[in-house]
Amino acid sequence: MMTQVAGRLWVVATPIGNLGDMSPRAQEVLKKVALIAAEDTRHSAPLLARYGIATRVVALHEHNERDEAERLVARLLEGSEIALICDAGTPLVSDPGFRLVRAARAAGIAVSPVPGACAAIAALSVAGLPSDRFVFEGFLPAKAAARRERLAELAGEARTLVFYESSHRVRECLDDMAAVFGAQRPAVLARELTKLFETVLDGDIASLVARVATDPNQERGEFVLLIGGRPAQEDARLAEGRRVFALLREELPPARAAKLAAAISGAPRKELYLSEK
Ligand code: SAM
Repeated sequence: MMTQVAGRLWVVATPIGNLGDMSPRAQEVLKKVALIAAEDTRHSAPLLARYGIATRVVALHEHNERDEAERLVARLLEGSEIALICDAGTPLVSDPGFRLVRAARAAGIAVSPVPGACAAIAALSVAGLPSDRFVFEGFLPAKAAARRERLAELAGEARTLVFYESSHRVRECLDDMAAVFGAQRPAVLARELTKLFETVLDGDIASLVARVATDPNQERGEFVLLIGGRPAQEDARLAEGRRVFALLREELPPARAAKLAAAISGAPRKELYLSEK
């Protein structure tokens, strides 16, 4: 009896706008596999058609990933090669696929990347912000209170912050960032990368707020928003502010303690107050 050789799961990046970014290797792998698992089969159809890829496509999205992953792993164990793609860019980066990759690896199946476009990395590569260390935060919570809370947790982060944002929230998101990080933080808004209306705006958060408010085009399309990390001097001020705030909190209500701690240390009052929540 022949021993069965397990298949391979290929995690294949596709373009984030410019179809010319589809690598020859991505095309080759998508042609040779038995099956493509795509986030949205209809969305991927034109891309596959353009490159003459006739492989059968099944849907793998956040709503069916649990069940579908099991079926796909069974096929992989039978020896099939399967490719995973998402609507744009690299699967698993703010996109489905994590459960499938984890299940495949747990089953001892080889998982290979076919790297390519990723909006976060593309934006970082042109932003001109420190890129030796960075934090990818993906999408912020849609609800205002949860978003501000998350931003407050990130206020002390010294590494460059990278966010994905949708067009209808970019304005309020920038407003919240100005309030929580301070309007002078360096910021870059990378819009429609690799596409016709690609724009990379840089400055501080205040200048991006002003630019987006006066030019409605800047609110259209897809965005990566990058914020410079907290400067070291600000770190020391905030640390002192937090220390004083903690002492005063033993005797005073939060708003009063934050006001005094901010006056003593020079740290932003809002941040001291928020840090307690
Ligand atoms: N997996 C993708 C990747 O590798 O970048 C990201 C998928 S996520 C669902 C979609 C988000 O990525 C968009 O809302 C936007 O924030 C960002 N994005 C995707 N394409 C972009 C582009 N061409 N320019 C700027 N941002 C983009």
